[in-house]
Amino acid sequence: MADLAALLQDPMSAVAATEPSNLAPLAVSVLIDEFGEAVVGDLADDDLTGRLARRQYVIDRLKLDFSRDAARLAATFANENAGDLLDAPTAGEWIRHNCKTTGSVAYDAINVGEQLHRLPQCADALAAGAIGFAHLSVIARTAKALDGLRTEPAFSEDELLERAKESSAGRLWHYCMRLRHALDPEGVAQEQRIAVEERRLQFSVWDDGSVLISGRLDPVGGAAVRTALEPLAQPMGEGDDRCLERRQGDAIVELSLHSLDAGLVPQHASQRPHLQVTTTLETLQGLPGSPAADMEFSTPISSITVQRLACDGNIARVVFGPDSVVVDVGRAARVVSGAARRALNARDEHCRWPGCERTASWSAAHHVVHWTQGGKTDLSNLLLLCHRHHWMVHEGGWKLARSDDDQVLAIPPTYDYWRSAQLQRSSRE
Ligand SMILES: [Zn+2]
Ligand SMILES: [Zn+2]
Repeated sequence: MADLAALLQDPMSAVAATEPSNLAPLAVSVLIDEFGEAVVGDLADDDLTGRLARRQYVIDRLKLDFSRDAARLAATFANENAGDLLDAPTAGEWIRHNCKTTGSVAYDAINVGEQLHRLPQCADALAAGAIGFAHLSVIARTAKALDGLRTEPAFSEDELLERAKESSAGRLWHYCMRLRHALDPEGVAQEQRIAVEERRLQFSVWDDGSVLISGRLDPVGGAAVRTALEPLAQPMGEGDDRCLERRQGDAIVELSLHSLDAGLVPQHASQRPHLQVTTTLETLQGLPGSPAADMEFSTPISSITVQRLACDGNIARVVFGPDSVVVDVGRAARVVSGAARRALNARDEHCRWPGCERTASWSAAHHVVHWTQGGKTDLSNLLLLCHRHHWMVHEGGWKLARSDDDQVLAIPPTYDYWRSAQLQRSSRE
């Protein structure tokens, strides 16, 4: 058993004195083991909820102590040359790196520690188990935001503590935001102005050509995007078992395609933005040995994708290679003319996939027999399909059939194309 008094004075001394190759059993580690067992010692082994609540209480108490020391470290950075001695620009950076945590955890701890002198009742309530550290963190952030307001007393610890005792940390955060606005509307507006200025969106391309999207939006901007995507990300049609993330990914592509197709995106350099595809006639016809087509902003695309995009004249232009006749099939001479499309919209009204009700303006005019194969552009050969179901028919391997009563049936692919793609990939490796 380690010398407890010495350890409590300098708990890391045992760690520092131990070679990395001989980490176990550390005195601190043994103490923690014994303490951890003692904390739940009176609870049955299968009392999981009791054990979790007890352990979280311990974590919160430790976080409170951690915050006090974090604030003390921050004070040394502010007043002394701790930055040079510890080789870190800020206390938060030192904590992030050396305590193996994230920047937000480090700065949150510092802020809680710095606000504790204004929150004695909250600290007592945490010690008594009445609130969690997450509540204390929210209250400390509010206290800091309202610090220095001329309209003192701006901040009532009593009121926030009572709220904290009866609500989740998430609900408390909403309450604090409303309270902050009531006390400091200009401060909240300023914060939201800064959040807008910090909007960004980045695209990076993976090895296989997939696009990785990352970015940051202010609360209002984020809400606008989510509000626009949410209806599009609902399950659609029979047998839709896509997870939410997949549906949201499909939704942002659908929103983009629709905006381009409906001409909602403003002109740029006298051209209306549209998907630009350059292909040979052979690729458009899907002939064996034909090269992949080129698409602006994309890696080369397959012939069946070109066929889908060209099915409805959904691309600005198909420019054939030097050996083929140049034919425009884009918006200048749509494959499905205005009159034919209006008749199709009137007949089908929405996507014809079983159970799908995506409206006509959000759907493409699909040629059952593709026009490059001699299929006619008249009602007998056309069906409305939304972007997702159009993809499923062209690239996804699904087949459409008509029942005797003129209903459309969707027949799943006879092979698992995901599996077959994986097999192809593994056989190449
Ligand atoms: Zn089609
Ligand atoms: Zn559909």
